[in-house]
Amino acid sequence: MALRNIVMENDPLLRKTSRPVDEITPRIIKLLDDMAETMYYDNRGVGLAAPQVGVLRRVFVVDVGDDHGLLEFINPEIIETEGEQEYCEGCLSVPGKTAKVVRPAKVKIKALNRDGEEFVLEATDLLAVCICHENDHLNGILFTDKAVNGEIFYAQEED
Ligand code: ZN
Repeated sequence: MALRNIVMENDPLLRKTSRPVDEITPRIIKLLDDMAETMYYDNRGVGLAAPQVGVLRRVFVVDVGDDHGLLEFINPEIIETEGEQEYCEGCLSVPGKTAKVVRPAKVKIKALNRDGEEFVLEATDLLAVCICHENDHLNGILFTDKAVNGEIFYAQEED
């Protein structure tokens, strides 16, 4: 496994639409492993999408610290949403900024796991937020685009 560099906010890569994975090759498995390591490094994030490490493929990983643990999504598709919730989001590619975003309260998502098997997952709370946030990355959308009232909050930089 290896840490990957995170692509930052103003990089045009983050605005591109990612392509589906047509075959789960060892390269994709390595990508998943590296993305998890990069997400966990320094406890920085609860989710990471492939374009954030410069790979324009429809892949993301999530771990919001609940019972699900690490979740890997390949070619994800949100098939149902319900309700609304507002959450103050941040992003590893947009350090120092947060914004309130309205997301579905519940999502149903279909994707492939690393063995190429299709699964369907229902998520609520932070997991639903995170899934929507990462899925947006695959379509070139950042959370700041969806900030409630266009309001961005600047957090104190920590290092
Ligand atoms: Zn993000």
